[in-house]
Amino acid sequence: MTTTFEDEPGRLFIGGQWREATDGARTDVIDPSTGQVVTTVAEAGAADVDAAVRAAREAFDSGAWSGLSGRERGRVLNRVAQLIRENADEIAALESRDVGKPITLAHAVDVTNAANDYEYYASLAWSLDGSARDVPNNRLAYTRRGPIGVVGAITPFNFPLILAGTKIAPALAAGNTVVHKPAEETPLSALYMAGLLKEAGVPDGVYNVVTGTGPVAGEALLRNPGVDKIAFTGSTATGRHAASVAGEGLKQVTMELGGNAAHIVFEDADLEKAIGAIIGGFVYNTGQFCMGGPRLLVARSVHDTVVGILADAVPGVPIGDPRRPETVIGPMAGERHLKKVEEYVELARKEGGRIVCGGERLDLNGGYYYKPTVIADLANDSRVVQEEVFGPVLTVQPFDSEDEAVELANSTPYGLASGIQTTNLTRAHRVADRLQAGIVWINDWPMLDPAVPFGGVKASGFGREYGPEALESYTKVKSVVVSLG
Ligand code: NAD
Repeated sequence: MTTTFEDEPGRLFIGGQWREATDGARTDVIDPSTGQVVTTVAEAGAADVDAAVRAAREAFDSGAWSGLSGRERGRVLNRVAQLIRENADEIAALESRDVGKPITLAHAVDVTNAANDYEYYASLAWSLDGSARDVPNNRLAYTRRGPIGVVGAITPFNFPLILAGTKIAPALAAGNTVVHKPAEETPLSALYMAGLLKEAGVPDGVYNVVTGTGPVAGEALLRNPGVDKIAFTGSTATGRHAASVAGEGLKQVTMELGGNAAHIVFEDADLEKAIGAIIGGFVYNTGQFCMGGPRLLVARSVHDTVVGILADAVPGVPIGDPRRPETVIGPMAGERHLKKVEEYVELARKEGGRIVCGGERLDLNGGYYYKPTVIADLANDSRVVQEEVFGPVLTVQPFDSEDEAVELANSTPYGLASGIQTTNLTRAHRVADRLQAGIVWINDWPMLDPAVPFGGVKASGFGREYGPEALESYTKVKSVVVSLG
């Protein structure tokens, strides 16, 4: 399969057919490493979203997918995983171009995880069953687990392929149909996957893609009465809005929202190992990672040592053209993201922060590059510490006790991820238990696998992706009670 989108600009994928938006609207897709237009895609309006929801509803009601057994659907999803692997180079190049993602990361993480997502849920599709219940008075009761119906999937710009897979793979495994609205900035892998799912044997209308803006296409999906569940990943502000609109329509919702994780380094940590995890945690995906570790909390006795090591090591992290295999930090995914990071670093200066390294753009080929930045001496109530910067920026704060470390870690509105560096196993588990986060990494960062659920608490949302938990969230349970008398 070869789809460059330069020869054939993207269209909407509705009911198994490619089509233009009803009003013919199109929008530019920019390569963030150059600031140049790569291609255009169709921009869906409310009528297009409605057509996609109707196609998904018809496909669901026809039973062509929902009526298959879990194992039959699993076989098709395995074929999807296989096709992703067969086309890995092309998909990685596409994702790298669209998001500015370093090509090595796109290969090793995005493409690999996407294939794993489909494979994992293909295997779980075999276990979609109910259970018998022991009830009194000569009756038999049992439960059956079935799909919910039409799922509206809304995804963000930073991991387009993976965060689509974390929704589409379990939703399809459970027998649902899907209308997917990818982020306006990074729509290409969703369109690519539409062709690939069709090739794998997913029936027409089961997966539909409506590229377009949040306020028009996203809003229309949230409000459409034909949608039974909204699976949303994005910022906390948009998520609040999405949850309230979906709640109005009594739709089920999963909300994967913003993060601002703390990474705690105790005095007994293996510093050499910790430094790799600290740097990996904050520059990963150019800092555009909801589960990155942008807030470093360090025991006061090793604080200055850690800051010194970071000052030496961070400027050496390879930054530049995402197509070069050695690149670790690419451009920000768009100009607005670059400007946001610049504003936050300026704010940090005004708030009394000391720029240990970085603190400025990198001018390269007209792309949206920002140097990896470490900031010390900020107060805990500074906005740069409390808010989600979403770029390659690390703040460093000292602490004097375990209690203070936990208090600082839990002090922001977010609760998505957290990390601990220590060689004291008892302390590691004790602190992990006290951290308000959906996932905690101990002497590690970041490790994600389809078998391990992730998701938020507090302003980071609710519901879980990955694991059997995600599959369950795309099902509904029916109880059947039989009188044996
Ligand atoms: P965003 O909230 O701006 O957009 C997310 C999606 O919502 C996009 O598809 C957008 O078009 C759509 N949208 C915008 N307005 C809408 C509306 N009125 N109705 C319906 N849809 C609308 O987020 P973003 O900037 O694309 O992504 C970055 C954010 O996502 C960060 O906050 C990050 O932490 C978060 N994120 C969270 C997770 C997680 O698993 N919790 C994973 C990745 C990213």
